[in-house]
Amino acid sequence: MREDLLKNPVFAMAAEQFDQVADFLNLTDDIRERCKWPKRLITVTVPIKRDDGRTEMFFGHRVQHHLTRGPVKGGLRYHPAVDLGEVAALAMWMNWKCALMDLPYGGGKGGITCDPRTMSEGELERLTRRYTMEMIPFIGPEVDVMAPDMGTNEKTMGWMTDTYSTHVGHLVPSIVTGKPLTLQGSAGRTQATGHGVAFLASGALNKLGMAVEGATAVVQGFGNVGSHAVFTLASYGVKILGISDVNGGIWNPGGIDVKALRAHYDEHRTLSGFAGADAIGGAEMLEQPCDVLAPCALDRVITGENAARLKCRILAEGANGPTTPDADRVIDARNDIFVIPDILCNAGGVTVSYFEWVQNLQRFQWTEREVITKLETLLHASFEKVTGFARRNGISHRMAAQAIAIKTVADAKAARGLFP
Ligand code: NAD
Repeated sequence: MREDLLKNPVFAMAAEQFDQVADFLNLTDDIRERCKWPKRLITVTVPIKRDDGRTEMFFGHRVQHHLTRGPVKGGLRYHPAVDLGEVAALAMWMNWKCALMDLPYGGGKGGITCDPRTMSEGELERLTRRYTMEMIPFIGPEVDVMAPDMGTNEKTMGWMTDTYSTHVGHLVPSIVTGKPLTLQGSAGRTQATGHGVAFLASGALNKLGMAVEGATAVVQGFGNVGSHAVFTLASYGVKILGISDVNGGIWNPGGIDVKALRAHYDEHRTLSGFAGADAIGGAEMLEQPCDVLAPCALDRVITGENAARLKCRILAEGANGPTTPDADRVIDARNDIFVIPDILCNAGGVTVSYFEWVQNLQRFQWTEREVITKLETLLHASFEKVTGFARRNGISHRMAAQAIAIKTVADAKAARGLFP
């Protein structure tokens, strides 16, 4: 199984990062093995009726990295490239993210190999409900709590809530987070990840002594994370020079009018054709001069090949795993880019998910202001913890964030001991 997982390039990347940190922390072999490998790898088949009457079989996965510090928490992804190794890598990163933010969770991730853009709403609903049924023996508010990720959204979470609640016979809002507000979702959850990316990017600008108002930003991805990063950055007075999505990028050196872009996107569901900017290639856009570069779409987009050509001052990693270990080596050697590593930069989502779960368990709703204030307090504390640890130890922000997190998990495992 070890070799099978390591064949996946995303898992190999997560494992390489882990090994570097484990060496830095001098973890003993037994704790190292128990921290590195996932507790449970679950694969299910998900047959559904397509709209044309055919039955089609999909494969779905859920990886629970460990349950040492609480239920596992993590998103559910619908994408053609989903496989068990990728899901396991994302579960491992979720694990470190929850530990870094000191949330009482382990990390998990799920995914179905499918292309949601080619499926009708009815097909997506049947897919989601059947996957949830197949997962019922393995999930629960005290065991595993899912949330949206690429290709899924609050509607998906609504169907999951209904499927699970129908199964047990009463509403269980704490079974997932990122639900619609009307099903006891949390105020602030939809924008939480992108808001956190923008909030931390402004913190990095402050740390570097640069003005936030008038700073420039380039954002890859205009889905949940990218769009809200764009809107929050713009609300701080940051000038958005470029944005890309799966169809390519748009560029305006004078700054994109994000209100007009929002209207265009709501109508056309793509950035292409926006009158207030020129077209630019997605890869080319990443290499343009800017203060903040925020990859908020895919993993492994900053590589050993393009890292030397980046012209940003801050790399704010909204996506999971956007920077490969090869790129990290180049960036570390350059020493002129302030990296906000993914497990910190995009932790706003899981943090507000945690708030949503707490509200659900208490049957009590917080206001959006309360949610955002608590979120910013926790993000700021973790940002200071990571940058301080990196400075004191002379290591990168990524290494510092993962070291704090992995030590937290290792200590919890040591305190619980080994059963039997
Ligand atoms: P999403 O499905 O809402 O949006 C994905 C975006 O990426 C879309 O705009 C899509 O067009 C764009 N995209 C796809 N291929 C691209 C390409 N080749 N070039 C440029 N853009 C491309 O997904 P999301 O929820 O915004 O997640 C994005 C990333 O953030 C993922 O890595 C995810 O794991 C991570 N993340 C999401 C959350 C969350 O709360 N949604 C939390 C933490 C991390």
